[in-house]
Amino acid sequence: MTETDPRALVAELCRHFYFQGWATGTGGGISIKQGDRIYMAPSGVQKERIRPEDVFVVDLDGAVLEPPADASLKLTACAPLFMAAFRQRDAGAVLHGHSQHAALATLLWPERFRITHIEMIKGLRGYGYHDTVEVPVIPNTAHECDLADSLAEAIDANPQTDAVLVQRHGVYVWGRDWQHAKTQAECYDYLFELAARMKACGIDPAVAPEGARR
Ligand code: ZN
Repeated sequence: MTETDPRALVAELCRHFYFQGWATGTGGGISIKQGDRIYMAPSGVQKERIRPEDVFVVDLDGAVLEPPADASLKLTACAPLFMAAFRQRDAGAVLHGHSQHAALATLLWPERFRITHIEMIKGLRGYGYHDTVEVPVIPNTAHECDLADSLAEAIDANPQTDAVLVQRHGVYVWGRDWQHAKTQAECYDYLFELAARMKACGIDPAVAPEGARR
């Protein structure tokens, strides 16, 4: 993987996320900004088989600059959602995943996800061990593109978070560059999974342990 080739990077990361269970069944994806060009995977294709030449290039307004040579490929349905994080947060990369951990977290906490006092919280921008991470949850829609307005509102209303959960669907996560988006996505996913396991054990993940510093 050459970090200077964003097309290869999008293909490589899609394959990686597929094997993590975040992009199976053609779902999920990642887009990466480099300068004033944004690289996005095509829609409705097997994410582990994307080739660098299948990747779209769009401008900062979301207009296609360079379509792939294969004219049958369509731009990802996530494009307007990715653009919300690029515009509102100046993100360098945005990731969308269909992780079961994210979907399960929205079933257990349908409006807002909260967790505190877990080491992996430190992997998230602006958070320490003692802090409570909060992630907004927005309702799912029949078509991915119809999530754009509520995702944009959730991003605006929650400046402390770099993730938005979608009910019964998955999560959008971003970062200042692809490395940051990837590591934050891994930390969020770890927290979603652990929180569900804590709840199954009768532990409320949003409650600080006894005697903890507040
Ligand atoms: Zn999706």
